[in-house]
Amino acid sequence: MNIILLGPPGAGKGTQAQRLQSDLSMVQLSTGDMLRAEMKSGSVLGEQAKGIVASGKLVPDALMVGLIEDRIARPDCAGGFILDGFPRTEAQAQALDTMLEKTGKKLDMVIEMEVDEAALTERVVGRFTCAKCGTGYHETFKRPKVDGICDVCGSTEFTRRPDDNAETMKTRMAAYRAQTEPLLPYYRGKGILKKVDGMAAMDEVYRQIRAVLVGA
Ligand code: AMP
Repeated sequence: MNIILLGPPGAGKGTQAQRLQSDLSMVQLSTGDMLRAEMKSGSVLGEQAKGIVASGKLVPDALMVGLIEDRIARPDCAGGFILDGFPRTEAQAQALDTMLEKTGKKLDMVIEMEVDEAALTERVVGRFTCAKCGTGYHETFKRPKVDGICDVCGSTEFTRRPDDNAETMKTRMAAYRAQTEPLLPYYRGKGILKKVDGMAAMDEVYRQIRAVLVGA
């Protein structure tokens, strides 16, 4: 099954995608994570994206489409993938349709994670990630079981995204509203849009997503 998790920054797309990945053996394709890896490696693409990501604006479509097209073509995606952070514009959505058609794949479902805008900044500024295994945490909503130690790999090093601050969130939200939200009617028109309550507790959100996907 190939799906998109769609929602504003802080909606919980990454958290739920990580869970789907380990539970249903689908591959999480996070374009934000891919860009952060490119920036860390100092690649040409990473250098091009750096300033844009830091500002909270969107990286140009052509770069993003190239990145995801290569990734979707890899063998591990054959068993199903979860797009987390892509597409974010109508041009990206159309490019996705074309690349799936070309490779004989299809998009099964788009899951909208509905959230109150007021909650998003608090969610985003409180989050941090294990520097070693990438598990996501939150100061208020999901602390490690033992403070300072990753539940999954035991690492004591954590990182925070420089763009997870209140100021940059304003630009990221504006980009979401102007460029990404119009994808909801696009996918509704195709009859594949489902909605879950992204304000519910993390386990409940997961239960709703799982129910939509596999009916259990
Ligand atoms: P995310 O981790 O999904 O919040 O993405 C972090 C940042 O990466 C965004 O604010 C954008 O600057 C950039 N980005 C990620 N995915 C895309 C995309 N599909 N199109 C354009 N820019 C993106």
